[in-house]
Amino acid sequence: MNIDQIAAKVRAGGRVTVDEALELYRHAPTSLLGRLAGGVRARKHPDGLVTYIIDRNVNYTNVCVAKCTFCAFYRDVGSPEGYVLGFEELFRKIDETIAMGGGQVLLQGGHNPDLPLTWYEDLFRAIKMRTPWFKLHALSPPEVIHLSRLSQIPVPEIIDRLIAAGLDSIPGGGAEILVDRVRKALHCHGKATADEWLDVMRHAHRAGLRTTATMMYGTVETDAERLEHLLRLRALQDETGGFTAFIAWSYQPDHTELAGSEATGIDYLRLLAIARIVLDNFDNLQASWVTQGGKVGQLSLAFGANDMGSVMIEENVVRAAGASYCMDEVEIVRNIEDAGFDARRRNMHYDILGGPIFREREVPRMLELATAREDGDTSVPAELRFYTARSRAGKAGRD
Ligand code: SF4
Repeated sequence: MNIDQIAAKVRAGGRVTVDEALELYRHAPTSLLGRLAGGVRARKHPDGLVTYIIDRNVNYTNVCVAKCTFCAFYRDVGSPEGYVLGFEELFRKIDETIAMGGGQVLLQGGHNPDLPLTWYEDLFRAIKMRTPWFKLHALSPPEVIHLSRLSQIPVPEIIDRLIAAGLDSIPGGGAEILVDRVRKALHCHGKATADEWLDVMRHAHRAGLRTTATMMYGTVETDAERLEHLLRLRALQDETGGFTAFIAWSYQPDHTELAGSEATGIDYLRLLAIARIVLDNFDNLQASWVTQGGKVGQLSLAFGANDMGSVMIEENVVRAAGASYCMDEVEIVRNIEDAGFDARRRNMHYDILGGPIFREREVPRMLELATAREDGDTSVPAELRFYTARSRAGKAGRD
C-alpha cells in the first residue's frame, strides 16, 4: 500500500500492519502523521477534554546494581551519594502532595540489594494506615523482578503480596525498547528481558491491576525496533486490556555512560503520532513535557496525546540526566486551554475527578520541582536496621 492508501485505512478506523506502520513512520509528512493521529484521538475522545493528574514522582533509593548505561540517576552500592528515604520522609512527601490536591504517589527506585521485600510491604502498609484512600502507583516491572530474584519468590506471588500490602497500580518504567538486541546494548537486558517485562505486566493485569506502558527511545534502536516495541504492547493489550496509557520519552544523555545527543522535537512528535496510530487499543497517550518541555508538550496535543501526565511535584531521574522542566497545575491548565481543549483532573484509572483544583481553593504555586533529598543529606533512616542487608556495605552500615 502507498501512503495515501494507508492514511485512508487509518481514517476508516483500520488496524495498520507492521509494514504499513513503518511506511507511514518513515515516509509520511509530519503534518499528515499529526492529522491522522489527531483523528484517532478525536474518535476516542470526542469530548475535547485533556486530562492530567496531581501526583509526585518519589525515588525511594538511588542505589542500584543494574547499571544501565543510559542512566544518570543511580549510585553504586556503598557510594557516599547513595540514599534510601526513611518512612517519615516519605510520609512528609505524601502529606505535601495531598496539600497540593494530589491523591497518589509514583514510587520507583534503584535495585537496592539492601531493601528486602518486607521493607516494601511495611512501607505500603504504613502509608495505607495513615491515608487509606491515597493511591500507590509503584514499582516498575524490573523492580518487581529484582524483588523476585532477591527473595526467591515467583513474580505472581510478589505481585500478590504487594497488592495485599497496598499496591494499587504498576508504572510502565524500565521498558526502554522491548527488543532484546537493544536491551543488551544498553546493559538493561539483565534487569529484565523484553519477555520478562511483558510477563510482569501480564501477571499484574491478571491480578486485577491496571498499569501504564512506556518507551524510552533515541539510543541505539532502529525505526523497525521502535515499531516492534509498539506492536508487542498492542499484542499484550489485545490479550489483557490492562494498560491505561502509553508514555514515550526521549533518552536524556547528560551525565550518562552512553552519552550521545538527544532526539529532536520532530522526532518526538512523529513517534507520538505513530504510537497513537499503531496502539489502536490504548485509550490514553500522555504528552511527555518533562523531557520535551512545555511547548513541545503542548504541541503533543495536536499529535495524538490526550493527557498531560503529572503535575510532577518532584522529579529526580530525568533531572539527573540534564532536563529540568517544571510546570505546576496553573501552567499545565494554561497550556491545555490555549491549545483549545478543556482541562480536567483525573485519577490513575483516568476517571475524571473535576476541574483544576486551583480554581476551587488556594493551593501553593510550585515554581521548581522538589528533589528526593536535599544535597549533602547523607542521613540513614532509623528503621533500616530492622531489615536484612545483602551487600557488604549494607551489612556494615547496620551493625
Ligand atoms: S534505569 Fe533504573 S535499573 Fe537502570 S541503573 Fe537506573 S535506576 Fe538502576
